[in-house]
Amino acid sequence: MNDSLVIVGAGHAAGQLVTSLKQHKYAGRIALIGDEPQLPYQRPPLSKKYLSGEMDAERLLFKSASFYDDDQIETRLNTHVETINLEQGLVNTNAGESIAYDTLVLATGSRARRLNLDGENLPGVFYLRSIQDVDAIRERLGTSQRIAIVGAGYIGLEVAAVCRQSGRDVTVIEVTDRVMSRVVSPDVSAFYQRVHEEAGVVFHLSTGVTRILGDTHARAVVTDKDEEIDADLVIIGAGIVPNIELAKSAGVVVDDGIVVDAYCQTSSPEVYAVGDCTTHPNPIYQRQVRLESVHNALEQAKTAASNICGKPQEYGQVPWFWSDQYDLKLQIVGLSQGYDEVVIRGNPDDRRFSCLYLRDGVFIAIDAVNSPRDFIQSKALIAAGARIDPITLADTAIDFKSMM
Ligand code: FAD
Repeated sequence: MNDSLVIVGAGHAAGQLVTSLKQHKYAGRIALIGDEPQLPYQRPPLSKKYLSGEMDAERLLFKSASFYDDDQIETRLNTHVETINLEQGLVNTNAGESIAYDTLVLATGSRARRLNLDGENLPGVFYLRSIQDVDAIRERLGTSQRIAIVGAGYIGLEVAAVCRQSGRDVTVIEVTDRVMSRVVSPDVSAFYQRVHEEAGVVFHLSTGVTRILGDTHARAVVTDKDEEIDADLVIIGAGIVPNIELAKSAGVVVDDGIVVDAYCQTSSPEVYAVGDCTTHPNPIYQRQVRLESVHNALEQAKTAASNICGKPQEYGQVPWFWSDQYDLKLQIVGLSQGYDEVVIRGNPDDRRFSCLYLRDGVFIAIDAVNSPRDFIQSKALIAAGARIDPITLADTAIDFKSMM
C-alpha cells in the first residue's frame, strides 16, 4: 500500500489517528495539516491544570515532536485547508499549495461558540479553546482580581474553580436556571452550585449578558436585568460549534456535524471524519449523536485507522466524559437525554455519590462524583441496556459488577 493520506486538523483525534495508523503499519505517506502552531495536544488540561500553572505546555502534547520525525509523516502546522476538490482528490491550503490524497480524514474539531456581544473585542475578554487562549488569559490573570465567567457549563465551572482557588473574586453568569443544565440532572446541578458557592463563587442564574463595558479594556459586564458586574477579566464559555463548513462546501453530507457511518466514513467513500466535527450512529441509543469528548475523538480515530488499513471495524461504544472542579472528579457515562427517573446512590454531603438516569426502567447514563468504581463498572450495565430495580441500584453495598 503506497497511498497518500491527508489529515485535515491536527488536534486530539488527528494525534490518535497517526498513532493508530503507525500501529497498523500503514505503508503510505501521511500529511498532517493543522492551522494551530502546535503539534496535536490535549485540550482538557487547558481549563484545569494548564490554566492553574500546574502543567506546562510540553506535557500537553499528545506525542513528543520526535514521534512525527519520520519520513512517512509530513506535518504542516499554521496551515489552513481552505477547500477540498473531491473529484480530483486534492486539498488546497491558504499557503497556495494543492495536496493530493487517496484517502482524506477530516479531523477539524470544533470552535468556541461566539456570543458577538458589544464590547466582546475589548482586551480582557476571552474565549477558551486553545493554548494561545489560555496563555493570554494567564497573562491577564496576573493583574486581575475580579473575574466574570459567562456560562456555567463544564469549562466555565472549571475556570471558576481554578480562579477561586487562586483567591480571585469570581462571578458566574448563566442564562439557564441551573449550572451544567445541558448535561446533568437538577440534583447534580444543585450539588455543584453549592460546592462553588461554599468556595465563594457568586452565581447569577437565569441571567443573560447583553454587553461588556470598558474603554481600553473590559471593566464590567451588563446583564439583561440591567445589572453591571465589575470585572477586569471576562471569560466566555458558551459551548462549541463543530467545524463542518469545509466538508459542506466540498459537497460532503453534513447535518449538525459531518455525517459518518459506523466505519467513520462520510458520504464520500474515500473521505473519513473523526472527533468533535462528526455526527455518527450510536447503536446503544439507536440514534445519531454528536459528541464533544476525548473518548469519542480517540475511539473514532482508532476505528478510522483500522478501516483505512483494511481491517473493518465498527464504532459503537458507550460515550463517556469527565470534568475536574476542586477536589471533585465528575465522570459521566452514557447519554442521559430523555430520562424519566433519577436514582441517587450515596450521599452528596460526603462529596462522593452517583446520579443514575433511567428511561422506561433501563439504566441509560450515570454521573459519578468521586466514585471511580461506579464509573468503571456502570459501562457494561449501560451498554447492555440493563433493567435493575432502583432500590438495588441505590444500594452502595452492592457493586454494579455483581448486578450484571
Ligand atoms: P480539536 O481538538 O478541536 O482539533 C481540531 C483541530 O483542527 C484544531 O486544531 C483546529 O484548529 C484544526 N482545524 C479545523 N479546521 C481546519 C482546517 N480547515 N485546516 C486546518 N486545520 C483545521 N473532553 C473530555 O472528554 N473531558 C474534558 O475534561 C474536556 N475538557 C475540555 C476542556 C477544554 C478547555 C476544551 C476546549 C475541550 C475539552 N474537552 C474535554 C473536549 C475535547 O478536548 C475535545 O472533544 C477534543 O479536543 C476533540 O478533538 P478533535 O481532534 O476532534 O478536535
